Amino acid sequence: MEIINQCLSKIEFAEYIEGKMIDREIDKIILHHTWDTNDRWQKGEVSCDYYKNMYEEKGWKSGPHLFVAPEGIWLFTDINIQGTHANQGNKGSIGIEMIGRYDESLPSGKIWENTKAVLITLFKKFHLKLTDIHFHREYNPTKSCPGKAVTKKWVRSEIKQI
Ligand SMILES: [Zn+2]
Repeated sequence: MEIINQCLSKIEFAEYIEGKMIDREIDKIILHHTWDTNDRWQKGEVSCDYYKNMYEEKGWKSGPHLFVAPEGIWLFTDINIQGTHANQGNKGSIGIEMIGRYDESLPSGKIWENTKAVLITLFKKFHLKLTDIHFHREYNPTKSCPGKAVTKKWVRSEIKQI
């Protein structure tokens, strides 16, 4: 599996996306949480390389497109390649992993700030609407992903404020 494995600030990410030729049709965004805690990410116990190995062991040829961390936005699978992250939802989507576990509490701080910036950038690039944000659990009801605490109503109200 080829991954980009590069961390961008939200401004760098916006420039990257604006300047990128995308030849795949994008009609939705699918949100995830990694479930591993942000604490483990900060300690380096989990990382893009860690997930790359995990996905390769499953035999996947691609993964999600982005991992949003407090330090920035990690490019994982190239957006021009269909990702592997949400079963039937893989086609036409960009898969975004928020670092952390959001079953008990909502994403906050830098992670949520960066996620919102990513969503706005992708909305502009692909002319998406609030209703084009989907959750992993819609495609796999055995999962709570992106976390039980995260609801459509909350995400939409947060984005509308920008
Ligand atoms: Zn997920």
